[in-house]
Amino acid sequence: MMTSGDGLTSPARLLRLASWVIAILFAVFLNMLGSLVIRDMAFAPHGGPPAIEQFADTPAKARLDAARRDLQSQRDALGEKAETMEVARGRAAKEYGDAKESFRNWLATRSVTGDSSRDPDILARTRKLDALQSVAISWQHQIDAIGDQQRALGLKQSQLEAQIADEDALTERRFNEATRHYELQVFGLRLALTLPILLVAVWLFIRYRKARYWPFVYGFALFALSAFFIELVPYLPNFGGYVRVLVGIVLTVFAGLYMLKAFQRYVERKRLELQQDQGERARAIGYDKAVRSFEKKRCPSCDKQWSLGGDDSTFCVHCGLRLFNLCGCGGRNFSFFPHCHQCGAAQTTGLPAASDADAL
Ligand SMILES: [Zn+2]
Ligand SMILES: [Zn+2]
Repeated sequence: MMTSGDGLTSPARLLRLASWVIAILFAVFLNMLGSLVIRDMAFAPHGGPPAIEQFADTPAKARLDAARRDLQSQRDALGEKAETMEVARGRAAKEYGDAKESFRNWLATRSVTGDSSRDPDILARTRKLDALQSVAISWQHQIDAIGDQQRALGLKQSQLEAQIADEDALTERRFNEATRHYELQVFGLRLALTLPILLVAVWLFIRYRKARYWPFVYGFALFALSAFFIELVPYLPNFGGYVRVLVGIVLTVFAGLYMLKAFQRYVERKRLELQQDQGERARAIGYDKAVRSFEKKRCPSCDKQWSLGGDDSTFCVHCGLRLFNLCGCGGRNFSFFPHCHQCGAAQTTGLPAASDADAL
């Protein structure tokens, strides 16, 4: 791949831009596909998430429901009966009250003579009053008995409600357990998809990031990172965050170690390079790199500023590489340019004469 804008022609710059566009588009479309697959994995285990109805003990529940309905209808019947009796008792009480009132009036208008307790009229009326009162009392007794029955039924009903609540709690516990199991399964599947993709992306990036088809390698790497660290987030179970963070830590450590090792390799390579003779060192430097170095006034071999030795330096003051040649026409040229800037004659590019190297 092309690493820097310096020294690039404008088609090369355009190609670089277009390559990045390709890389990002590739990542975006892979991402869309990935998120669809990750989403649909929810239906992989036995056709989807568990429903609470699957975990109810249906016969037991039906039995309890029937018992509840039965109790309720018994209570309703008793209630109706009590109401009817209440009406009857009310009538009897009113009848007794009216009779008592008329008896009192009758007594008041009657001139009481002699022993009233022996008066047959009074006795008859008193007995009639007693009979009326006992009717009202007997209604009251029946109403009280129904009240007792209602209380007993209420007790039974609350016991039944407790049983139903127990049954529901059991169902919910089974459902929660199944849901946990299901979430674990789906998360495992998603992890089994995204983690290998991430590892493959890391491997591809290390091996092929400088290959001709680098935009696809970069696109795939972007996709893998976002699939693992972003797409997976909404589907993480409780402990899922740990997995993500741990993988992130491992990757960061890995990247850090890789970078340090790469830097060590670079330092070692430079050291070996500097031990080679002029010709080999010059040959090892690519034209693009030489042009970029020239623009920055750096030595293309040791990457240090040659201009420290003055702009008219012929050799790098740090490593001794020959940087400038004199053309036959007298023009002074950067030794990696293929042509003389004054007469256009072809230079022996980057390859100082062997005699020059020996002379050093
Ligand atoms: Zn140098
Ligand atoms: Zn010349």
